[in-house]
Amino acid sequence: MTAYKVLLYYFYTLMEDPEGFAVKHLKYCKELGLKGRIIIAGEGLNGTVSGTTEACETYMRSLKEDIRFAGIDFKIDDVAEHVFHKMHVRVKPEIVHLGVRGEKALDPNKLTGIHLTPQEFLEMKDQRDVVVVDMRSDYEYELGKFKDAVTLNLENFRDLPQHLHQLEKYRDKKIITYCTGGIKCEKATALLLESGFNDVYQLQGGVIKYAQETGGVDFEGELYVFDGRIKVDVNKVNPTVISKCFVCGTPSSRMVNCANPDCNIHTTICLTCAVQFDGACSTTCKEHPRKRPYNEKGYYPKPAVDYL
Ligand SMILES: [Zn+2]
Ligand SMILES: [Zn+2]
Repeated sequence: MTAYKVLLYYFYTLMEDPEGFAVKHLKYCKELGLKGRIIIAGEGLNGTVSGTTEACETYMRSLKEDIRFAGIDFKIDDVAEHVFHKMHVRVKPEIVHLGVRGEKALDPNKLTGIHLTPQEFLEMKDQRDVVVVDMRSDYEYELGKFKDAVTLNLENFRDLPQHLHQLEKYRDKKIITYCTGGIKCEKATALLLESGFNDVYQLQGGVIKYAQETGGVDFEGELYVFDGRIKVDVNKVNPTVISKCFVCGTPSSRMVNCANPDCNIHTTICLTCAVQFDGACSTTCKEHPRKRPYNEKGYYPKPAVDYL
């Protein structure tokens, strides 16, 4: 048992007073010594926090005791220390930004794809009439994704409605979506159903739960995560590296940001190129007047705006 845990969780539920809840919740999280990011909206809660094992257990118990969150499911990982620097609780219009609001707003409690357990997903994913679709952003699936999964060239999840046409050719197939922890799929599958797709499924608990329950078989590369770890190894069965250095093209899973703040591209740059370009992704970026000094670690973490 490690001293710290990182939790990832969400729950779609009606919140009467998101602002009031957020104020109290922030205070409570700070009392427990948790650090991380939580989004509160009228449609529910979405969070990722790290803390001592004891603090995390107390936190999970108290959320489950709250009748609004009784069905919440936590993805729990062991970590050596905090993976966040601060504790934030923010109120936003949606717990994950899709931008389909007002009359058209999607409520996963009313309409969503059929949930598959990791084991069910594993049994179905390679069947001939099945298409597995990655609902995450480009920098995430470039680092790692399921073997043969279809990606949608999404820069942000909110671009999904404009990219759905890429799935037209799979209308007669069973579509199974997946994301990091499951939250995006709740709405993505609702959108698919509303767009006339009939056979729509989602991986419950996302890649994180799948990795814990199946050993991560057939997940190629590494899993991008939205905390200080940046990425985690999830495949203990048949691991590979699929990402390539942005500069030289050799296999690399070293996820960084370009040291030029105006570029700031979030991508993989191998150690050799990082040294050669002083942390930048090109000669132009290397010579940029405001280029940040290359720190050994080589990254300037991107704020996880889309996801949280
Ligand atoms: Zn390189
Ligand atoms: Zn650059």
